[in-house]
Amino acid sequence: MSNQPLSNLVPYTCFGCRSTYKRPFEKGVFYRKCPTCGGAALCMDIRFRPPKKLDDKQWKKVKYLVDHGFNFQKVYHKEGPIWHRERYPQNLEQAKEFVIKFKDQAYDFNII
Ligand SMILES: [Zn+2]
Repeated sequence: MSNQPLSNLVPYTCFGCRSTYKRPFEKGVFYRKCPTCGGAALCMDIRFRPPKKLDDKQWKKVKYLVDHGFNFQKVYHKEGPIWHRERYPQNLEQAKEFVIKFKDQAYDFNII
């Protein structure tokens, strides 16, 4: 049993070795050292579910999203006067449209 409340843990994902591990959330800390390979692991949104390690297509899509400022944070679109949660794209083709459409909601992971 851990003393850390689970709600404070967020996934950090390393794209070098495709490992994801949970660490306490720290505001403004986007990168941590990957315990597996020593590379940089990026803080992902709590909703992120990593693809299977050998699923190259899905990893490519996730990396593309991250490179454009999306770590599975909530993204919204407007229908008439109402804002709706946008679903994350299923594949790389959809991801390319997604990052253009929602670029004003992207994060800049390099600014801390
Ligand atoms: Zn790693």
